[in-house]
Amino acid sequence: MTTPLLTETLVDGVAVLVMNNPPVNGLSHPLRTALWQAVERLEADPSVQALVITGEGKAFSGGADIREFGTAASFAEPHLPALTQRIEACTKPVVAAVNHLALGGGLELALCCHHRVVADDAQLGLPEVNIGLLPGAGGTQRLPRALGLALALQMITSGAPQRAAKLVAVPGQALIDACVPAAELRERAVAYARSAATCPRLSERSVAPDAAALEAARAQAASLPYPAPLACVEAIAASLDRPFSQGLQAERAGFERLMATEASAALRHAFFAERAVGKVPGIDASTPRRAVAQVAVIGAGTMGSGIATACLMAGLQVDLIEPQADALARGVAALDKHLQAQVDKGRLQAERAAALRANLKPATADDALAQADLVIEAVFEDMALKQTVFRRLDAVCKPGAILASNTSTLDVDQIAAVTQRPADVLGLHFFSPAAVMKLLEVVRGAATAPEVLATALDFGKRIGKTCVVSGVCDGFIGNRMLEPCLQQALFLLDEGCTPQQVDRAIEAWGFAMGPFRMGDLAGNDVSWRVRQQRLKDGKTVWPQPLADALCEAGRFGQKTGGGWYDYAPGSRQGTPSPAVEALVATHRERLGRPARAVPDDEIVDRLLLALGMEGRALLDEGIALRAGDVDVVYLAGYGFPRWRGGPMFSMAQRAPDTLQARLAEWAQAHPSDPGPWRRA
Ligand code: NAD
Repeated sequence: MTTPLLTETLVDGVAVLVMNNPPVNGLSHPLRTALWQAVERLEADPSVQALVITGEGKAFSGGADIREFGTAASFAEPHLPALTQRIEACTKPVVAAVNHLALGGGLELALCCHHRVVADDAQLGLPEVNIGLLPGAGGTQRLPRALGLALALQMITSGAPQRAAKLVAVPGQALIDACVPAAELRERAVAYARSAATCPRLSERSVAPDAAALEAARAQAASLPYPAPLACVEAIAASLDRPFSQGLQAERAGFERLMATEASAALRHAFFAERAVGKVPGIDASTPRRAVAQVAVIGAGTMGSGIATACLMAGLQVDLIEPQADALARGVAALDKHLQAQVDKGRLQAERAAALRANLKPATADDALAQADLVIEAVFEDMALKQTVFRRLDAVCKPGAILASNTSTLDVDQIAAVTQRPADVLGLHFFSPAAVMKLLEVVRGAATAPEVLATALDFGKRIGKTCVVSGVCDGFIGNRMLEPCLQQALFLLDEGCTPQQVDRAIEAWGFAMGPFRMGDLAGNDVSWRVRQQRLKDGKTVWPQPLADALCEAGRFGQKTGGGWYDYAPGSRQGTPSPAVEALVATHRERLGRPARAVPDDEIVDRLLLALGMEGRALLDEGIALRAGDVDVVYLAGYGFPRWRGGPMFSMAQRAPDTLQARLAEWAQAHPSDPGPWRRA
């Protein structure tokens, strides 16, 4: 009998079961059922001597079928834990022929088989910790029995997959019976099964104690702010001191406990939000794409040089165009430094780096523009200048070339409007340092053609970025949300906080960097100049007298040796600043506002809700497509803690009435606050 999900052939007394559930043979309920039924039937069939289980396509199995997540099917019998027990109990030898990838439940399936023949290019791992869980189908009990305690601890708590070729060399390992060339996998597995006389079960082995490894893993996991890593260690520890069946119970209890935690819900949300972010209404596989082989970057400053580096690293041909010879030389030097650092860190081979570098053509003239498939403009943030550049692009670029601006604040539609081809124009908002930061906001203009957007998204992926589509507005998704958050941080200073208290509170909650330390790193003068420019342009500006006073005192941040903190020469470590204390005191006196003690949880709530409410406004305006997209922006570009899910996820965890009450309270405390809750 064959089913589309599981095909079965009999080869000289060996039944070969091939899972066929694209894309990665996720262990869906129908596939689990098919496997269960096949094992039952074949065990009773006298013409069958042994079984081989393998996967069609690009994986043995990637684990749970994520399409079933959260649905009744994921809980339907047979569960994966029951299936693994059933397979292990089979009285005829069962051989897993592991092709390409065995992850999570996929590896647990392989572990319950009696023998494992593994392709030499395969990768094996238990990544559940990355979504705040532990392997729940025997992985925490069988992997230590197969690989020893130390390596199992490392694999399960890190979630990182390992290469079969490396694992097979581990002394005394019982994970891999034979590591064979990938092309011969099935044939070799069948031969192995034919000669297999016994059914060795990992559950019947014991684990050698290793107190040092266990304690080190426990200490490391306990230092992390979310519970999954420590729960993994405790479940693995259960493999040491009790019978297998009780170890399984401990594993199940740990799994269920983790499943109910907010951190796991947040990590699962982040996982799904990242998968959904690439789905853009109006764009699918049938949308035409344009070829991008030759990229021109205009401006070799901080961003241009970083963008050129990112393109080179992906193997693209890059023309870096900058009229100032000294600026061009600086940009190229920064690019070389980055490539060299990759070589020094062992991430790139020297010959490969040299080959990639040979694809760069720096120039002070812009002749190369005529051949470019994609142009990325990264000149000064000035509308008149950008429009001049785009008029030139319109005149010299070939038809079909995509014209992108890296502007952080300017209106992409106004830039597109000076060309005769606004459908080919869009924003590509990189983050600094552009060669490193994962986030790329892809800004869709009013006239941007679907195929231009689709091509830009493919390009972003090709250079290793996480792309989030944003509509046109001042600051796009990420920076626009940051503004009310920074405003809120300043209000907290008005009310009695110090910069260090605000930073400490939000960093303790999980932010990589508090707003004042971030201002000092990025340069407080950047937003100061933006405020001044907006005033000049007659736009609405939120008054920030304290931040203005800081910049008027020349305290731009780390680069001037002082900002919200003081910095000793050459140090990036800020210390509380008496000068700032005095500035804040004068400011408060002027406000006539008595200082009060603001609790840390209020600081956290206010900063988060400022972000979340602005995010909600972006959704209402259609600038962001989904709440999950907003979260991805903050996870990939702003150091938001992944195990907190993102600003929209965090806000959704709060009861709506408490939320409303707090917002009303803060709006009243700052009548001049132009924050998002006023607009709501
Ligand atoms: P920068 O001052 O470091 O570099 C700008 C470069 O453009 C200079 O080297 C300048 O000589 C060159 N230039 C000026 N006019 C030119 C022209 N007509 N043709 C070619 N080159 C010209 O600035 P930056 O920080 O790299 O910012 C560039 C753009 O990227 C701005 O629009 C900025 O808003 C945006 N951006 C900056 C950051 C950041 O963190 N710095 C982040 C995202 C986006």
